Amino acid sequence: MGKPAKKRKHSVNEDVSPKRICSSTCIVHSSNLLNYGKFVSLDACRGEQSEKLSYLHRIRDMRLKEPSSSPYRMTGICDQIPSTLDGLDLATTGYHQNCYTCFTGKLSRLQVSKAEPSLSVRDSLSNLKSLPSQFGARCSFLFPNECIFCEKTETKYKGKFQELTKFQSWKHKEPAWKVVEPRAQELKKDALYRKVQGKDLFAMEAKYHQSCRNLFNTVWRNHLRGKQRAEKAADNIDSLEAQKMAAHNKSYGVVKDYILTNVIRGKEVVQLRYLCKMYIETLESEGFPNPKYRSEKLAKRLKKDKDISRDLTFSKVPQHGCIEITLIYSSSITVDEAVVCAYKLGKK
Ligand SMILES: [Zn+2]
Ligand SMILES: [Zn+2]
Repeated sequence: MGKPAKKRKHSVNEDVSPKRICSSTCIVHSSNLLNYGKFVSLDACRGEQSEKLSYLHRIRDMRLKEPSSSPYRMTGICDQIPSTLDGLDLATTGYHQNCYTCFTGKLSRLQVSKAEPSLSVRDSLSNLKSLPSQFGARCSFLFPNECIFCEKTETKYKGKFQELTKFQSWKHKEPAWKVVEPRAQELKKDALYRKVQGKDLFAMEAKYHQSCRNLFNTVWRNHLRGKQRAEKAADNIDSLEAQKMAAHNKSYGVVKDYILTNVIRGKEVVQLRYLCKMYIETLESEGFPNPKYRSEKLAKRLKKDKDISRDLTFSKVPQHGCIEITLIYSSSITVDEAVVCAYKLGKK
């Protein structure tokens, strides 16, 4: 009985000699691949074979929705997937790593995914999210053998071939792959976001080219910089508005002090125009010149000010010609007295 046990132990096989291929059945075999990769038997999947099969069924159903002319349809491979595992020898039934990644990869290129990106692929594969925890890393649904950023296996950067690299995981350290999902989302890289959403990129062996990852990080840094610049500009506008408001409040305060001291207590009669000039001068000295500030605006604010409005009277007095002036004086003096005062003021 020692022999079968030994066979099981070696079901994940490095050796892809034709003999091995003959003795084992790859259920997603793609004969036009140059290198099929390791053979993984379903037996090695620790009792999760049926989930694995239904995952392949979901992808098969999506692919078969492609038009018959589409290279992504992969009818030949779809037809190899058994409808059930009943009666199959799970020790010799399985898949080649590269056949598997070829079949399960690039789903974002399917029509069904393009037509309803928010629904089809994500819904069809939604069970995937919970899988990394159920499966050991070796047997979880691995990412295809391609760069998650450029979706290619091989790429050149500055004349050099870039090798595919897996994400690392370190103890007691937040893994670097975790930032890919939120960044892809914020950068609106939807295909990438859908691909990595909710997945453990380390356990599922997501791969990347260093140059593609660097590029992604550069795009992210530029995005951050742009965002910070925009925020700073918005802050500047806010603080400028606040300073301007403070200048207006200060100008109003100067006018109000004058009224309290000289008009209400000192019984002085003053022209609105004069107060407005005082206001405009203060504005200017505060660094926010506005020579066109209208006296009506100042009058409106004074009339609304509960501290002083009850003690003040506003009177419009016609002057020579059709000019009209507004006099402001304490409510404790009469209109006639005020006009006399104003007359004297005018003479001065
Ligand atoms: Zn194969
Ligand atoms: Zn790449």
